[in-house]
Amino acid sequence: MTDLMCVRYQRSVRVGSKHYEVFERMHYVCFHYEFEHGDADVDEECGAGGCPSASLTGGRDRVIATAKELAIEAASGAPWRNSEAHEYLEAFAAWLSDSGGYYANRGRVAAGNGWDVVNDALKAATTYE
Ligand SMILES: [Zn+2]
Ligand SMILES: [Zn+2]
Repeated sequence: MTDLMCVRYQRSVRVGSKHYEVFERMHYVCFHYEFEHGDADVDEECGAGGCPSASLTGGRDRVIATAKELAIEAASGAPWRNSEAHEYLEAFAAWLSDSGGYYANRGRVAAGNGWDVVNDALKAATTYE
């Protein structure tokens, strides 16, 4: 099979080959920086969802903030479906393994960085079955 080539950065597109045409014959990351990232510095997160640069900057802070909020909720007896630690952790693992479907159902590209996925998983695990 001939390699698909990224038109922005002459390297083959393998992982994203299914979305090659959708992303204007580029890697998703290349498409993002070419069309979505705007004037933001490439080392800085832009406003578009799934920005790969979020892993360098705000992602960790969001996860910390979410974990702290959830700890307060849990301590105050919020009516989570998964209020026991083992239920919560099982749901956290299950949600992560199904997360591709979650983003696809919402017409979203899978989050561009792990921090965003973990942030969504922390919240979803409170109620996910
Ligand atoms: Zn590329
Ligand atoms: Zn961006």
